[in-house]
Amino acid sequence: MTIRDNELISDQTKLVHEMEINDTFKFLETKITGLPEQDIDILREKYGWNEIQTQDRRSRAKMFSEQFLNPITYVLLAAGILSLLVGKLTNFIVIVAIVLINGIIGFIQEVKAENALDSLKSMTAPEATILRDCGNVLHCTQYRIKAREIVPGDIIYLEAGDKIPADARLFEVANLQVDEALLTGESLPVRKITTPVLSGASVADRKNLVFSGTTVVSGRGKAIVYAIGMKTQVGKIAELINQTKEMKSPLEKRVSSLSKKLGVIAFFASALTFILGIIRGFDILDMLIFASATLVSSIPSGLPATITITLAIGVSRMVKRNAIIRKLNAIDSLGAVTTIVSDKTGTLTQNQMTVKHIFVDNTDIEVGGVGYIPIGDFTVDGEIISITQHSTLPLILQNMALSNDAILRQHELENDEFVWEIVGDPTEGALLVAALKAQFNKLELMGEYPRIDEIPFESANKYMLTIHKNDANSLLIVKGAPEVIMQVSKSITVDGQKIAFDDKLKDQIEQKAEYYASEGYRVLGIAYHEESNSNITTDDLKAKFESRELEMIFMGLIAIIDPPREEVKEAILRAHNAGIKVIMATGDHKLTASSIGKDIGILTTEFTAMDGKEIDSTSESEFIEKLDTNRVFARVSPEHKYRIVNGLKSKGEIVAMTGDGANDAPALKTADVGVAMGITGTDVTKDAASMILTDDNFASIVNAVEEGRVVYENIKKGVKFLLTTNMGEVITILVSMLLINSEALIFTPIMILWVNLVTDGSLTVALAAEPRENDVMLRPPKKPEDSLIDRSIIANILLVASVMAAGVIFIFNVYSKDDSIVRKETLSFTVLAVLQIFNAIASRSNRESIFKIGFRNNRMILFGLIASFGLQILAVHLSFFNLILETTPLLFIDWVVILGIGSTILIVEEVRKYFLRRKEKLVLMK
Ligand code: ATP
Repeated sequence: MTIRDNELISDQTKLVHEMEINDTFKFLETKITGLPEQDIDILREKYGWNEIQTQDRRSRAKMFSEQFLNPITYVLLAAGILSLLVGKLTNFIVIVAIVLINGIIGFIQEVKAENALDSLKSMTAPEATILRDCGNVLHCTQYRIKAREIVPGDIIYLEAGDKIPADARLFEVANLQVDEALLTGESLPVRKITTPVLSGASVADRKNLVFSGTTVVSGRGKAIVYAIGMKTQVGKIAELINQTKEMKSPLEKRVSSLSKKLGVIAFFASALTFILGIIRGFDILDMLIFASATLVSSIPSGLPATITITLAIGVSRMVKRNAIIRKLNAIDSLGAVTTIVSDKTGTLTQNQMTVKHIFVDNTDIEVGGVGYIPIGDFTVDGEIISITQHSTLPLILQNMALSNDAILRQHELENDEFVWEIVGDPTEGALLVAALKAQFNKLELMGEYPRIDEIPFESANKYMLTIHKNDANSLLIVKGAPEVIMQVSKSITVDGQKIAFDDKLKDQIEQKAEYYASEGYRVLGIAYHEESNSNITTDDLKAKFESRELEMIFMGLIAIIDPPREEVKEAILRAHNAGIKVIMATGDHKLTASSIGKDIGILTTEFTAMDGKEIDSTSESEFIEKLDTNRVFARVSPEHKYRIVNGLKSKGEIVAMTGDGANDAPALKTADVGVAMGITGTDVTKDAASMILTDDNFASIVNAVEEGRVVYENIKKGVKFLLTTNMGEVITILVSMLLINSEALIFTPIMILWVNLVTDGSLTVALAAEPRENDVMLRPPKKPEDSLIDRSIIANILLVASVMAAGVIFIFNVYSKDDSIVRKETLSFTVLAVLQIFNAIASRSNRESIFKIGFRNNRMILFGLIASFGLQILAVHLSFFNLILETTPLLFIDWVVILGIGSTILIVEEVRKYFLRRKEKLVLMK
């Protein structure tokens, strides 16, 4: 290797952008067919991974020490020091132990959350298309790798929507335009070239280079990588924006503000406890410790951790169901989604395209065969025909193969069987397979008619043009939406004759195209032009084509079937049952879209379909109205999609929208949940999206909505449990201060801390793992303004708190009225702990009977309950704990009474849930 200092920018005489292409290849020691596989490891060793190192993370030690920098720890430590002052050494030790345990638990939770985020990041890591180790360029297949694996010398392929993975020198471009605002601040896309640029050019003027982190706006290109990782322009200024970093959901923010408010309430409640204690004549220092313990246990300190863990569990459940969350706030919105706007191809349909009909020479030719296997007959009215019988059929098949970027290849499975697969756009793959059924092989044809230029397909244009060299002539082939191809065609070939494409013939073709579309086929038109003037440049040819000056000859129509995904019909029904509208927004023809829409249950009789042209001619207010009744939007451009999302949002809808093309990014960003396709989606859409589907499947969106709802429900359960227990404790303490006339407090401070530690921790976290309830997708979406703590929760908190207070006071004041203080305190302490345990059981569902839910489906809660109960038994019966907690062993009958009192909470909750269910049923019946 001639390269020095990891910088592959200059060969000491010229910079990369000043070199001729051949010199660049030589300098970078690579070939158009890519680097040999055996060089990769050596190059990696030398240049490292293609990564931008972001700022150093917080060290683990710092993360651990930060666990102790919060008001709760300060209060606890203050209580500990006070205990020391009054000579209670055990109290001090226990408090310090509690602080340590809390810190360790917090640290573990934070590490877990960070690891979860890291694995999410690697799942959404950018990829790149490269060419490596390829002997013969005609038989090469490009493949996708993780962008970090790129090494200098790699050949990269770029197309619209790609994020450029490294700094590279271009050697082939087709209308390539790149948005370099990230580097240069220039908002207009830069049109790229391949010729050398003069020395002295600034970065912005080095138009034959592409830079890592910038994005391809349109066109296509091929380039040789010369700088990776920190050696790239963006690496040098260390400015790569690490999107997946901003991972704090609004829900978390709302909860932390809620925690602060509850903290204030807790502070006043414990201050009141303190004052009441002093009035009742207790010692000031004792009361300070007691009030501190009350404060610590009444602050719902477990709340933020509960939210994080519930979200993390939700995220991992979604991954299992093929949805990767990129921005945590998406989970919050997912639970509230009221409308899903989905594109058709690949999301609602299988994207397994097969050409079924070719309409040429006024004849409908049926194409036989299944899937991508290139075997099938061509028949007319059931009779097999020979290809050469028809004058235009061979021409159309040849051009279908030539104007094509897909690759058909055989792929070996583990069981040694071979399957045919398509690399690239499935629409083009279908054309390739059909052509090969008649022995028209793209690779051979490309040798005969090499491609010299092109206008790549873009959904806004709906056509693709390729220009090929054919001896001294040029061959132009255009294929795309029939109406577009018909518009550019001046003549048509019929039975080998070129005739004028008059209105009558156009009508005929149009009717046929509409017929195919109404049967659910995706229809393409195809036309060609042979240019004998060898002086004309390809740029001129393209310009003439665009201004419709070229004499394009229409050849025929191609009807492609793309069946709906099997699971989609049911998914749409589930969405409808969950009160969610499903809208299709597709680039395909209105009739094709409507036919599929009817098939899968989106377009029922009461709803309508409209296309892009109709949208354009509708006023904004009319359009907003139409959004209520229109379920299929066809021939839409990315701008239409943007208009649809905005319209729906202005009506208060919470919108999930899918997208795959680069131009869909604005619509995805605007949607409440932008959904990108993992397989067919571009980097730009993935960047803009808050969720990525790994299987491109509509059903996965509905599943993600379901998981979003479960997350919200579980957070609500956790919040309700924490608040009922914390408030229950405070209310019990306050009421006992007012009502009980005893020379002792109802619990010791350490008992209060124990209950808090035992219940708050294991049980709340276990609620986060609750499985979904059966009817979660049978209820309407939650309203965005719905608060985590609504009136019904407040009423519920008061109800549960009263039951707790009554239970504790009963055992202290009635059951053990004349017993020793230690026994009385042990009893009330144990009743409180057991009440919390039963409360956790009751909190597992807000409306469903616990006897219906069972315990087998949440092992964490079962474990939590057994652990809490077991620890409580130890607290009472182990002499070590008797010493520390100042408890005394209880009798068997005591336990029976305690369990009886504890279960009252379950009974009260079951009655409440019964009435709630009855009320909901009545509302439904009305
Ligand atoms: P969506 O994914 O949004 O449901 P779509 O994939 O059907 O839509 P586009 O990809 O925008 O929509 O395609 C619109 C039209 O362009 C198609 O109906 C077809 O006629 C034509 N078309 C699609 N792919 C190609 C291609 N590779 N070359 C030429 N024309 C194409």
